[in-house]
Amino acid sequence: MIPFARRLAVLAVSGVLATHAFAAEAPRAVNTYLTEQDAAARANRVSNVAYILDFTLTGKPDFAGTSRIDFDLADNSAPLTIDLDKATVASVTVNGQAVAANYNQFFITIAAADLRKGRNSVVVAYTRLHSTNGEGLHRMVDPVDGKVYTYSHFEPAAAHQMFALFDQPDLKATFQVNVTAPADWVVVSTKRESAVTAAGADKKWTFPASKVLSPYNFSLHAGPYKVWEDNSGKYPMRLFARQSVASQVEPADWFKFTKDGLTFFDNYFGVPYQWEKYDQLLVPDFLYGAMENAGAVTFGERGFLHQSKSTQAQREGLAGTIMHEMAHQWFGDLVTMKWWNGLWLNESFASFMGTMATAEATEFKHAWLAFYSGGKQGAYSTDQSLSTHPIEVPVPSTANAFDNIDAITYSKGASTLMQLRHLLGDEVFRKGVHNYLEKYAFKNARLDDFIGSLGEAAGRDLKPWTQQWLYQAGVNTIAATYSCSGGKISNFSLRQSATARLPTLREQRVQVATFKREGDKLVLANKAAVTYKGASTGVPELVGGACPDLVYPNYQDWGFAKVRLDKKSFATAQASVAGVDDPLLRSMLWQSLWDGVRDGQLPLNEFIKTALANAPLEKDYTLLGSVIGMLSGAKHYLDAMQAAPAYAADTGRQMDDTGWRAVEANSGNSNFQRRWFSFYVGVASSKPALERLAGLLDGSVKVVGLEIAQDQRWSIVNRLNRFAYPGSEALIAAEQLRDKSDAGQAQAIAAQVVRPDATVKREWLAKVQDQKTTLPFSRVRVAIYSLYPVEQKSLNEASAAERLASLPAIDKAAGPVFMRSYAEMIPATCSAASIKRLDAAAAKYTDLSAGTRRALLTLREEDQRCVTISRAMTAGAPKA
Ligand SMILES: [Zn+2]
Repeated sequence: MIPFARRLAVLAVSGVLATHAFAAEAPRAVNTYLTEQDAAARANRVSNVAYILDFTLTGKPDFAGTSRIDFDLADNSAPLTIDLDKATVASVTVNGQAVAANYNQFFITIAAADLRKGRNSVVVAYTRLHSTNGEGLHRMVDPVDGKVYTYSHFEPAAAHQMFALFDQPDLKATFQVNVTAPADWVVVSTKRESAVTAAGADKKWTFPASKVLSPYNFSLHAGPYKVWEDNSGKYPMRLFARQSVASQVEPADWFKFTKDGLTFFDNYFGVPYQWEKYDQLLVPDFLYGAMENAGAVTFGERGFLHQSKSTQAQREGLAGTIMHEMAHQWFGDLVTMKWWNGLWLNESFASFMGTMATAEATEFKHAWLAFYSGGKQGAYSTDQSLSTHPIEVPVPSTANAFDNIDAITYSKGASTLMQLRHLLGDEVFRKGVHNYLEKYAFKNARLDDFIGSLGEAAGRDLKPWTQQWLYQAGVNTIAATYSCSGGKISNFSLRQSATARLPTLREQRVQVATFKREGDKLVLANKAAVTYKGASTGVPELVGGACPDLVYPNYQDWGFAKVRLDKKSFATAQASVAGVDDPLLRSMLWQSLWDGVRDGQLPLNEFIKTALANAPLEKDYTLLGSVIGMLSGAKHYLDAMQAAPAYAADTGRQMDDTGWRAVEANSGNSNFQRRWFSFYVGVASSKPALERLAGLLDGSVKVVGLEIAQDQRWSIVNRLNRFAYPGSEALIAAEQLRDKSDAGQAQAIAAQVVRPDATVKREWLAKVQDQKTTLPFSRVRVAIYSLYPVEQKSLNEASAAERLASLPAIDKAAGPVFMRSYAEMIPATCSAASIKRLDAAAAKYTDLSAGTRRALLTLREEDQRCVTISRAMTAGAPKA
């Protein structure tokens, strides 16, 4: 799966969660979740599960289903529970006998007396509402043409929002499906249908039994989807999207990336793809980025539909996501974790292999550079936060399964796998992975099984490595220490340090490189590969070389370590960053400068000056994205800290001007021009900049090469409303007349909610907090992210105390899916008073769910960082 990236994507878990010891006979708690103990107890008794699922879909808000579950039972000495969420149960039949349904809205309990040792058969007939929150069998009505679309999403444990089952990953099963649906619908599942027959005015779709799967990897999607097909590869491929957005789909890219990826993974793993066909669906209201359902992968429309031709960045995002989900088809779907504590290995591995496949099997050869400046930075920042956690942590219940969907689980894990590959060698690593997939195919596995396979291939014991990297949180800092005499290096060592709180030192293989200045260029002088452990490791290979102007101790990014540049190297980086030819090194030096800002070492105003001077010269497209991302981050901090008004206004204008000049200067290069244009729209705040935006919208301002398509129009309308530009509110209604799509409706809400208007804020805060709202969750989420933009500080403050006071009650009433977004409502406004307010809340509200508490502590830490950056400013007089 790929998560939905927002501010809180950098969140991390707060320490290790306690696991409770339950007595074996303790009855299952009456709620929608399943504990690890209850799951383990059930898996001890149940095996060889086969489902026959019947669904009748009409397009109406509810659907009917019958679930037949055949399974072996080791003993019939105790009752057995079957998961089924909020259904109306019509009948329960056990081994051919109708029984009274013992159902509590979360699970059905089958009495011991009705069960027998050996083979059992349970049939549950029920009706249920479709969900509207993106889990279970989600239903959406297209506002453009009234057509109804459904799709399933189950991870971590939402299959029981659709049918009756044992909803846990280690009870793999076969799934045979029959669906009655309207005649113009297409139905997609793990396998291709074996028959479609007329059933009155409807059609009946029959799907043969699948190979064994964990329930969360099974899926069923149905609706009048538009279908594209491509049979030019080894496996048949299809792509699906809603009819009304079909013109936004670029199927050629989809099929090319998919076909090349399947060839790459077949070869790399040495185990062929097991799900026979490869279907991919673009679906509305999706909670996440994408989901690896076996043979029927879902993608959120929001991330992959664009109203003008895709940019290189958007195409690369698509390729990377396709590869990530494809890697899961082996790692996750074919071999599956036993319980949710193993989710990280799925995600780490898919992130790592997805990046490798993107780099090696698509045109995006620099995918590792994008990983460095994207996911890996999130991992560094999370791993340095107080609320970081080890990669491997216990998960007591399905309520906590997604507590760790963060940069540690995805990107630190991927970085440690990358490091392990450098440590063991490419071929040994590949062989270990192959052996693991072969040995555990169609089974469940634990971390020790994976590490064992790699260790066996390498002929070494990886237990110490596993302890250091997977069970201990925190990132080490590495720094070079050296001295020179007579212009030559006379001694050189690599020093590793840890914090007092997380003191583990680790073994790691990196490259250390030295550089000399030649004119305005920075040129590689020497490099050495070093496997270091402990506090200090000598690097004799570098002794005798020319005394360097810059030393970079993690050259080419093999290692996962925070790099501290020595003083001379930092000064060289600041002066010569644009004179580095190698884009990855240039990216790393930019990162060192930005880290300097975030740690309070480099004044923000100095960084802004360097970045504004150098960004327009940046010729690498990926790196340009990361540098202007840092500049946007700098603007965010400036707005948050309320820097001295004259300085803030002047710097804001400089950003506007730099952005606009670059939009005009890049008229011959659409990718660069659009990258600069989105920067411009994101920072525009001065009157002339907003006037220009209004002009672009009404056509009075034009730039050669720049197309203002519907996506761009909405981003302009949003920006103008965010600053209450005269006449901007009327633009929302006008734009809705042009764009009646689902995306347009969401954009209209965002533009309305983002307005600096106390009444609007009050009204929408109440809607967001209303647990009984009829708004689909996808709309609620849009409102949450639009309510309090950084510069609307007094509006944010106006309800801050109320939002904190109501947090415990909302946390209790809502589930983790809602809270992951709602955590955005925790007020953090970059001041000593705000930090104090968060401290008081953390002390008082000790009962919050793990995820919400972590969000609170992480925001408190970010608030502190903002204040530190503010104090380190040397221009103007910031207030914090
Ligand atoms: Zn994933």
